[in-house]
Amino acid sequence: MDHIKHLKCLICGKEYGPDEIEYVCPDHGKEGIVDVRYDYDLIKTRISPESLAQNEDYSIWRYKPLLPIAADAEVPPLSIGWTPLYEAPRLAEGLGLKHVWVKDDGRLPTASFKDRASAIAVVKAQEKNADIITTASTGNAAAALSGICASVEQPNVIFVPEAAPPAKIAQLLVFGSTVMLVKGTYDDAFELCLEAADEYGWYNRNTAYNPYMTEGKKTAVYEICEQLNWNAPDVVFVSVGDGCIIGGLHKGLKDLIALGWIDKMPRIMGVQAAGSAYMYEAWHDGEDILTKAPVSGVTVADSISAGLPRDRIKALAAVTETDGAYIRVSDDEILEAIPTLARGAGVFAEPAGAAAYAGLVKAVKLELVNADDRIVVLNTGNGLKDIASAMKSVEMVGTTPNRVEPNLDDLKRVIQEIK
Ligand SMILES: *Cc1c(COP(=O)(O)O)cnc(C)c1O
Ligand SMILES: [Zn+2]
Repeated sequence: MDHIKHLKCLICGKEYGPDEIEYVCPDHGKEGIVDVRYDYDLIKTRISPESLAQNEDYSIWRYKPLLPIAADAEVPPLSIGWTPLYEAPRLAEGLGLKHVWVKDDGRLPTASFKDRASAIAVVKAQEKNADIITTASTGNAAAALSGICASVEQPNVIFVPEAAPPAKIAQLLVFGSTVMLVKGTYDDAFELCLEAADEYGWYNRNTAYNPYMTEGKKTAVYEICEQLNWNAPDVVFVSVGDGCIIGGLHKGLKDLIALGWIDKMPRIMGVQAAGSAYMYEAWHDGEDILTKAPVSGVTVADSISAGLPRDRIKALAAVTETDGAYIRVSDDEILEAIPTLARGAGVFAEPAGAAAYAGLVKAVKLELVNADDRIVVLNTGNGLKDIASAMKSVEMVGTTPNRVEPNLDDLKRVIQEIK
C-alpha cells in the first residue's frame, strides 16, 4: 500500500504510518480521529479519467487505486456502488431550479449508503485476519456490515439500540449476525461496542473511529463526478448524523481536486433533523465542537439521530471549507419530503434520505442556492427500511387507499366518489 503516505490526527496533526496505529491517534483516546493521506502523484500513474472510461467494473472497486486497500486485495462479491444519478426535472421545476439530480444509494445491496463503508471494513478486517468484526449502528451500518459479512462468511457482532426500525433488525437476523439489542440509545450502543472490541480484540468498524470508513464513503462523489463527465456539481445536499458521510464526500472531492480531475469544489450542504441538530447548532453559533455538550438526538429520521456526532471535526470542515451551510429541518418537513421525492423522481427514501431533499426545499426558501446551480441530492437509504414512517408520511399529505367490495358496481361507486 505504497499509495498511503500517512494517517494524520485531526486534533494534534501528528502523522502515523498506516501500520503504526490501527484506528485513532493514541493521544486523544476515542476522539483522536485520523485522516488517510495519499500520494497523489503515485496514484495518478495508476488511474485516470481515461482509464476509468475503459473500465467495465461498475462498482466502487473501479476506484481501487484511490482506496486504502492493496491492489490485489480480494473484495466482497456483492455489487456495491455505481448507483444511478437520476435527473429530476419535475422536482427542479417545482422548486424554481434548473438542474437537480438524485443519487439513489437506496439501491445498494443492503439498501443504504453504508454499504460503501462496510465493504472497506470487511476488506480491512480480512487483511488483518480478524476473527470477528463488530460495529454499533442506528441500523444501516449494521445491516451493511451484516450483509457484506454474510457474502464472505465473516463472523460479526452487531450492537443496535433496541428501538431501531424492525426492518433493519430483521436484516441483521436474516444475514445471521450475532445481534445485541442495546437497552439504550445509539450513543450507548456505540460506547458498549468500543468497550467490547477492546475487551475481545474484535475488528472495529465503528464510524468515526475506524479511519477507513470515510474512504469508502467518498466513492459516492467519485461516481457523481464521473457520471457528470467530471463536470462537478455546484451544490451537494446530504443528511448528517455522525457526520461520516458528509466528511467522506468532502474527502472524495478533495481527492478529485488534488488529482486535477475536477476544477472546483462544490458547496456541501449538511441537513440535520431539528431534534438532532448538533452540527447545525455548532456551525450556526460558532461553538467549539471539542467541548460542546451532546444534544438529545430525537427524530423520526433514526439514521441521523446522533446526540454527539462522532465525526464532527470532519463534518464541520466539510461545510465551512466549501462555503456550504448546515440546514435544520423538522420531522414534519422530513416526512413530507418522502412522498414529494417519491412522486417527483420515483425515488422512495427512508426519513434520513428524504431529509436531504427537505434540506433542498428549505435552502430554496432561505435563498441558499441559485436557480441555475447544478444540484445533487443524495438519497442515503431505501424507503422500505422504515414503513411506519412511510405510512405516516402519506397520511400527512392526505393520501389514503380506497376500500372496495370485490365487484364492479362497488368499484364504480368508489371511482365516482373519488371524482
Ligand atoms: C448513516 C446514515 C446517514 C448519516 O450518515 P452519518 O455519517 O452518520 O452522518 C444518513 N442517512 C442514512 C440513511 C444513513 O444510514
Ligand atoms: Zn492526535
